[in-house]
Amino acid sequence: MLFPPATDSKIAHLDQFWRDYRSGLPQPQVIRTASTPLGQTDVDVVICGGTLGLLVGTALQQRGWATLIVERGTLQGREQEWNISRAELDNLLELELLPAEALAEAIVTEYNPGRVGFHGGGEYWVKDVLNLGVSPRILLDHLKGKFLHLGGQVRENSPFTGAIVHPDGVAVTAGLTYRGRLLLDCMGYFSPISRQTRYQLYGHDRPDGICLVVGGCATGIKPCSWGDLIYTFTAIENHYQYFWEAFPALDGRTTYLFTYGDLHPDRGGIQELWAAYCRLLPQYQDTDPAEIKFHRVLGGFFPAYRTNPLLPAWDRILSLGDSGGYQSPLSFSGFGAMVRHLPRLVQALTEALEGNYLARADLCYVQPYQPNIAVTWLFQRVMRVEMGREVAPHSVNRILDLVFREMSQLPPAVMRTFLQDVVQFPALTQTMVRMLLADPLLIAQVVAQVGMGTVLDWFKHYLGLGLYEIWQNFPPGQDFRARRQWEGWSFGAGRDRVAGVY
Ligand SMILES: Cc1cc2nc3c(=O)[nH]c(=O)nc-3n(C[C@H](O)[C@H](O)[C@H](O)COP(=O)(O)OP(=O)(O)OC[C@H]3O[C@@H](n4cnc5c(N)ncnc54)[C@H](O)[C@@H]3O)c2cc1C
Repeated sequence: MLFPPATDSKIAHLDQFWRDYRSGLPQPQVIRTASTPLGQTDVDVVICGGTLGLLVGTALQQRGWATLIVERGTLQGREQEWNISRAELDNLLELELLPAEALAEAIVTEYNPGRVGFHGGGEYWVKDVLNLGVSPRILLDHLKGKFLHLGGQVRENSPFTGAIVHPDGVAVTAGLTYRGRLLLDCMGYFSPISRQTRYQLYGHDRPDGICLVVGGCATGIKPCSWGDLIYTFTAIENHYQYFWEAFPALDGRTTYLFTYGDLHPDRGGIQELWAAYCRLLPQYQDTDPAEIKFHRVLGGFFPAYRTNPLLPAWDRILSLGDSGGYQSPLSFSGFGAMVRHLPRLVQALTEALEGNYLARADLCYVQPYQPNIAVTWLFQRVMRVEMGREVAPHSVNRILDLVFREMSQLPPAVMRTFLQDVVQFPALTQTMVRMLLADPLLIAQVVAQVGMGTVLDWFKHYLGLGLYEIWQNFPPGQDFRARRQWEGWSFGAGRDRVAGVY
């Protein structure tokens, strides 16, 4: 296999970051409060972080809110593609963030069908699910042009270093100091604001789970028009079950190896995962290793919290995108989650700015509890292997095959929505009942594996999902909080856009 220059040092660097993170990063102190008024503001909204922040920023600027984006680097998308389904992308068109031609240009790949399969079990095929590859570079390029054209301001190479919350505004320092009415934190998983928020609310920022991922885009892999959404072909190794993802990319084929774990000090890190990826990739793609030539390699890890989405800790500050934590703890598809939530977020933020509903108590309604995300935690627990616990080598494969086998017996929408991170009460209930009837012994083993406490906690969120399913049928209320509450029920019940297929 041939790799781009500096691959080893890139992997080593990522691995070092993973090890530092596991040992605990220093507690950030970037937000302070002041009781004196700020006085005049420069803009309505200051957005820190310009990847998904640019989507929100463009929509707000379009609605007339003077918006400034401060970005640590250059405001541009990366080369790696985001997979998403077409129904979700329609949100961008309906919000008129970009014309259909620009969106079409950003969709650089399209494949069908997608496969789901687990070693020793069946293969399950779906069409039109997460089958579009969006180029972040092209998408953000279009949005940046539109944002600037609308009068939005961008400060690049301007890392955020701190903010002071005043009763009437927030002063944000990123090189210079900018005064706004609202600060949106879009600085990703390791945002100092969201980390400080977690310390403030929970006393620490240790995640409850981690997903590690490595992969890359290469030519020389056998050409293939379909993709893998999630696939396994090995047993548990080194307390990890390896999951694979593969799809055609603009310049070759992208493959990822991902796995779930925690911060246990004895767990293998990015280096070990990369070694497993290089060892197993030729077998996975049935290709001679000498033929595989990488154009780029990727790696990283996603922290996940049971308490997500992240509530605000101060007036006038809200975390969105990966830092806000409303993406699934299974797929970590933050772009998809943002696109699905964008219409509700833009409406909520517009009303908040119009009515001055910028106190912490109001902003909590913009970031409501989501039982549809909370219930997926059980799946993450089932897909990871605890350190020191002996489990059957194929236990994860067996349970996942049971899940998908039973889902495949239900209407196609059940599996389609689940794969797009949308969990709904009727679909989940039907799947669970079928699993229980089909293999009660395996379910009992899973309960023993994850522990009764985890199952009872899950049941609480499952009941929440059921209640939200009922409540979202009521008409939305009239005031700011009542409308946000209703949106919370609707999204929390998994009734967001992609669910239209149901
Ligand atoms: C390998 C891989 C594959 C993925 N595939 C998909 C997919 O197929 N579909 C999907 O939906 N999602 C996918 N994702 C997830 C997706 O990339 C993220 O959800 C998305 O990038 C989150 O955007 P964000 O803006 O919230 O955070 P980030 O992407 O982390 O961006 C944060 C931004 O904030 C800036 N920033 C950070 N610190 C500061 C600071 N101090 N001051 C100013 N700016 C700062 C950064 O420079 C960056 O621009 C994938 C992720 C990875 C790693």
